[in-house]
Amino acid sequence: MDSEAQRRMAALLHHRAAHLAPGEPVALPIISSSTFHSPDGPDLSHVYGRTSMPTWEALEAQLALLEGAPCVAFPSGMAAISAALVAGLAAGKRLVLPADGYYVGRALAHQILARYGVEVQELPTAAYENADFTGAALVLVETPSNPHLDVCDLRRVADRAHAAGALVVADNTTMTPLLQRPLDLGADVVVAADTKAPAGHSDTLFGHVASRDTAFLNRVRDERRLTGAVPGSFEAWLVHRGLETLEVRLARMCATAQLIAGRLAAHPAVRNVRYPGLPNDPSHATARQQMTGFGFLVGFELPDAAAAERFLSTCPLIAETTSFGSTHTSGERRIRWGDAVPEGFIRLSVGIEPAEPLWAAIAAALAR
Ligand SMILES: *Cc1c(COP(=O)(O)O)cnc(C)c1O
Repeated sequence: MDSEAQRRMAALLHHRAAHLAPGEPVALPIISSSTFHSPDGPDLSHVYGRTSMPTWEALEAQLALLEGAPCVAFPSGMAAISAALVAGLAAGKRLVLPADGYYVGRALAHQILARYGVEVQELPTAAYENADFTGAALVLVETPSNPHLDVCDLRRVADRAHAAGALVVADNTTMTPLLQRPLDLGADVVVAADTKAPAGHSDTLFGHVASRDTAFLNRVRDERRLTGAVPGSFEAWLVHRGLETLEVRLARMCATAQLIAGRLAAHPAVRNVRYPGLPNDPSHATARQQMTGFGFLVGFELPDAAAAERFLSTCPLIAETTSFGSTHTSGERRIRWGDAVPEGFIRLSVGIEPAEPLWAAIAAALAR
């Protein structure tokens, strides 16, 4: 993490305490009230729970420190992505989205947005840098892509998309603002699933939209109020708590991922290891220049489905679950979700376990 990410993290840790009046709790209270005392009069900051809620607002302020931009919180990553896409599109407009990105985004585009007249175009992440975005209204970019971990140059993509008059929305879930800052690289909007590393303990779904474009973010906030896709206060509280340890967890996760990726690449049973931190990975050069860490996701192949299933089920330190970014290492065969990967392709999400016991368990399972 670079000095700017470190500065943002330090500010986050002291943000609440700096604003406390004597006698107020140091920990964030969970306020869960559908309605607020609201006699006639000006400046009612809270009236009804679908419009605003002190607990989300406290979290949005913390997220804003990390993003360097105002944020609107949502009950899941997909709720945040839907709100941003709806705010930036209309009937007859074209959406460009990654062919190799998070598969639920593609399903949303084809199954719902297309019904309202949005034209949907898929493009592989590796082709974004040299794409012609003429005719596009909104370009959704996800780098590294998921699960291939291909990387594209965000600055270049944003310049090309802006030249075509398109809005650039970056899904930054795999990186978090501590490892990559798309808004500083030219993106107009960031969307993210805080379900993953920011909450970090597999105990809640959450998401947010961040943007320095005030008019756009106001549209997103209005959509939240009108569609009713509002987060719960307890879930916001869990993310608020998770953010406090995000930097230390990421530091461990990235360091261990680098070590495990290197050892997997040298292992005779393993093929096609993908990790942007490996010097010979196709993503490495661009990753070095625009990311402030290489992340905690590692992709690799075992010979076939049976070998991959055997590996996953015999390794006691890999939880067999989907999703990523939690405290525990997890892994799965991504083909089960329809991703265009070989049968034996595994996506590993490295957790915060001490590295050597984790590698010992992986090496033992590979030896079987
Ligand atoms: C998980 C994920 C999402 C969706 O988040 P949910 O909280 O599950 O709705 C979106 N984008 C990416 C890249 C993800 O990994």
